[in-house]
Amino acid sequence: MKKRILTGDRPTGRLHLGHYIGSLKSRVDLQDDYEEFILIADVQALTTHFDKPELIHQSIFDVAMDNLSVGLDENKVTIVQQSMVGAIAELTIFYSMLVTVPQLSHNPTIKTEAKNYGYKEMTYGFLGYPVSQTADITFCNADLVPVGDDQIPHIEMARKIVRKFNDLYGTNITEPEAKLSSVGRLSGLDGNAKMGKSMGNALYLSDSPETVWEKVRNGVTDTNRISVKIPGNPDVCAIYKYHQAFSPDEAGNISSMCRNAAIGCVACKKKLAETLNAILDPIRARRNYFENHIDEVKDIISAGTEKANKIGNENLLAIKEKMHVKL
Ligand code: ATP
Ligand code: MG
Repeated sequence: MKKRILTGDRPTGRLHLGHYIGSLKSRVDLQDDYEEFILIADVQALTTHFDKPELIHQSIFDVAMDNLSVGLDENKVTIVQQSMVGAIAELTIFYSMLVTVPQLSHNPTIKTEAKNYGYKEMTYGFLGYPVSQTADITFCNADLVPVGDDQIPHIEMARKIVRKFNDLYGTNITEPEAKLSSVGRLSGLDGNAKMGKSMGNALYLSDSPETVWEKVRNGVTDTNRISVKIPGNPDVCAIYKYHQAFSPDEAGNISSMCRNAAIGCVACKKKLAETLNAILDPIRARRNYFENHIDEVKDIISAGTEKANKIGNENLLAIKEKMHVKL
């Protein structure tokens, strides 16, 4: 039997190159060897975007299309809409009895995120999202959760909850393991340490070739290199980081050309735009198909969600029996 992976995205916007490098690419690589569940985490999106229902609605489609467009095969992976799986919500409530408020409020990732969002006080839902995440992971008894290092405290919490729950009720819920991503964060073309949708520096998978060029053209290079004739320093160039990330085989050559003033910044940016567009072209073509067949996208989400409900309800019933709440 294949091991089960649970992964997903919050539908709060379209997915960008950071998501591609950081997770989508490996989802595609893993789809043959694992049973993958891709959760469109709309309930989790509500914890910070409860006042933007239209954005979440649109983003459910966008996130599904982004995942399908990078090459995930709907016959291999299961795409699930979180809010439509009742078992996740019910499990969240059961798990919430086993977590104290300080455990959540002292969670370093929660603290950082609350600070980033500027929350003086946290809602019950936001504070509790790691509990809900535990339910996301365990409703289908996922073995592995691919995560960045910021998510480690949540996986630790999930494991603790599951262990305690199993000890208490004699259930057999799988204790999930983190599958750490080996790729680091993709920086922004603006020189920021991270590309992020809310940072205004995101290069979206659905951007047109013209937009890609526009964003690359405005990217930050070595500011000391005021003329093509003087040698540049790739170490301080945002564009160069992208060459390294997206055309690693060519990066060495580009670096020495830059250091020898054998290539100018404009030509170097043109090269990068070409590299990115070559990666994005097939993604765009598939996205174009799905945008014109939105009913198919809806059907894919519905079918995946139906499968998730079947699995979730079955597991939940067994859990309720063990908990002695089922009469
Ligand atoms: P926001 O700016 O609203 O926080 P975001 O662009 O950071 O949005 P998230 O939905 O917060 O996107 O990211 C989800 C996950 O995507 C992260 O936990 C991380 O694994 C991955 N990710 C996001 N941005 C990057 C990036 N620049 N490089 C690598 N991975 C990323
Ligand atoms: Mg983020």
